[in-house]
Amino acid sequence: MSHPHKAQEFIANENRVNWHDKSLWHVREKRDKAVNLFPEWEQLREKASQIKSHTLSRLDEYLEEFEKNAIANGVKVHWASDAIEHNDIVLSIFREHGVQRIVKSKSMLTEECHLNPFLEKHGIEVIDSDLGERIVQLAKEPPSHIVMPAIHKKRMEIDELFQKHLHTPPSHGDENILTAAAREHLRQKFMKADAALTGVNFGIAETGDFVVCTNEGNADMGVHLAPVQISSMGIEKLIPRYEDLGVFTRLLARSATGQHITTYTSQFRKPRAGTEMHLILVDNGRTVQLGREKYRRSLHCIRCGACMNTCPVYRRSGGHSYQSVIPGPIGSILSPGRDMKKYSSLPFASSLCGSCSDVCPVKINIHEQLYFWRQDITQATNEEPAKKISMKMTGWLFTKPKWFRKAGKFGRKALAKLPRWMVYNSMNVWGKHRELPEPPKESFQEWYQKNRKNNG
Ligand code: SF4
Repeated sequence: MSHPHKAQEFIANENRVNWHDKSLWHVREKRDKAVNLFPEWEQLREKASQIKSHTLSRLDEYLEEFEKNAIANGVKVHWASDAIEHNDIVLSIFREHGVQRIVKSKSMLTEECHLNPFLEKHGIEVIDSDLGERIVQLAKEPPSHIVMPAIHKKRMEIDELFQKHLHTPPSHGDENILTAAAREHLRQKFMKADAALTGVNFGIAETGDFVVCTNEGNADMGVHLAPVQISSMGIEKLIPRYEDLGVFTRLLARSATGQHITTYTSQFRKPRAGTEMHLILVDNGRTVQLGREKYRRSLHCIRCGACMNTCPVYRRSGGHSYQSVIPGPIGSILSPGRDMKKYSSLPFASSLCGSCSDVCPVKINIHEQLYFWRQDITQATNEEPAKKISMKMTGWLFTKPKWFRKAGKFGRKALAKLPRWMVYNSMNVWGKHRELPEPPKESFQEWYQKNRKNNG
């Protein structure tokens, strides 16, 4: 289903749309406040962008350095070329240790690999331990946002979910009661887990360390209690030196939620005595994207979600309308690289206002890449004939100023006189949800000519 069709489901509930829009804009405002208190913000963005470009230009060397140092620290390093290999590696480690139950902290990479259904099929209980992730897991839904997975859910809906699945008494949407119930439920799961799985925000080539950022401390709780830790890392998450880390942690927290620092910024180096620490380095299409010059910078992404919070289309169409693991503007440039046909509508789900590129902490030219994808998709797929003809006619008209003026004059007169059914019918998709403004009596050019003359 295309983005506009899926978005229809979300926009059918106007209250929810307004509330979703407002909630995300509130996060965007918090981000702006934090950024405005930071005079060297632009220099930091530039530095981060340069570090990422440099790392990607020597990714093979840095990956080898990272692997060598991680192994020297006692970490077991695995390589996965795709999602299938990743999932098989995870399963084989769990089988070796007789793992039946795991706790997992938020990891978009494991979502991308569809790890949960794979493990569940093999009889392993998977508990997402991030509160938002646990909520969508109970609702049997995918996350709708990469930082706030359950942002589309209202408190009363969460209350109902908890009553149904956790057998809690009604909380009437009280967030303190809900959080306490979640804490108690998750604590039991942490205590019983045989293994813990995390994502990775940054891998440091120089030391072999890796960093996991959470606001709930759930990654730490999981790995500190379980005898086996697996951390899955996309190969683009690498940074060269330890001193680069501060550049990214400062950008990430402010861009994501307006915090100065993520509450738990945990650095892992070696396994505790008597435990195992595994790290899986995953490609899954990243080297293909690296080879596409126009789209390479999309691999700079540190998954802060700021481009989603600012995007007027995302805010008013909801994350599920993208039907992709990563929704919003960044998802719209990553997903067509995986399956152009399936995600062909995503680059068009944008006003190209450029707000996403403005807020991106690693300076990805998101709106330009959306525009490149539109061109590539239009050339590679069969565009709707009606759209093709109308675009050709419009293109012709734009190059003929005399005809453009005549058409404008005719349109202004006709619009004022035509019966409503001739303007608002099934061919006018734009007019489904909007009213055209009253046509002006004259064009801007006519007004300008008249006034310029009058002004001498
Ligand atoms: S593209 Fe930029 S703004 Fe969007 S999630 Fe990635 S880092 Fe954040």
